[in-house]
Amino acid sequence: MEDHHPQCVKCTVLRCRSREKDKKVPVFCPTEKYRGLVKETVEKSMLPENQAINKGWIGYMSKVMDPEKPRERLAWTRVDEIMEYASIRGMTRLGIATCGELLPESKLLSDILESNGFDVVSVTCLCGEMDPQEIGMPGNKICNPIMQAEVLNREKTELNMMVGLCLGHDILFLRHCEAETTPLVVKDRALGHNPVAALYLSQNPLYRDRFIRK
Ligand code: SF4
Repeated sequence: MEDHHPQCVKCTVLRCRSREKDKKVPVFCPTEKYRGLVKETVEKSMLPENQAINKGWIGYMSKVMDPEKPRERLAWTRVDEIMEYASIRGMTRLGIATCGELLPESKLLSDILESNGFDVVSVTCLCGEMDPQEIGMPGNKICNPIMQAEVLNREKTELNMMVGLCLGHDILFLRHCEAETTPLVVKDRALGHNPVAALYLSQNPLYRDRFIRK
């Protein structure tokens, strides 16, 4: 039988977003292909460590989506959400893993967090001053995302934010980080760290070919 890998982005039925549960879904629907995973993931969701995160999420979302304050949902920045999430979770010690090129922005973030009563630990990507040759890389300086993670682990931060870590280094950072971690700034050198702009631009005829890699 032909294997259909999930392709939600091509779905026009969107039963998962609908109340009409008798709709016929496409063959590539992951809900159908992986029915057995529902029970397993419900059980995982009920684990105390995952419930705690869900509680933080529903806590700030109930404010963001407050039906009594419909305009509020457009007023919550990601920085606001992170502070609210941390407060709900009782987290007081926050970590910033920053790219060296975004130190000024991370200082602004640190100032905001501190003025809201948080204890902030910040570590830049060049910490440790590692010699690139030691890991078989060229140049005379190199980021050390594993050390960034280990420093925050030892400092016992409760929630970390990634600010502009390079693609790849963000993966290494996440792999070695023990605390909960969320991205705040995703590096995009061409678009002012706003990667979604590439997707909007791809809809403009002027830019369409720009994203076809030759
Ligand atoms: S989960 Fe199924 S119904 Fe929902 S978008 Fe994906 S394919 Fe469509």
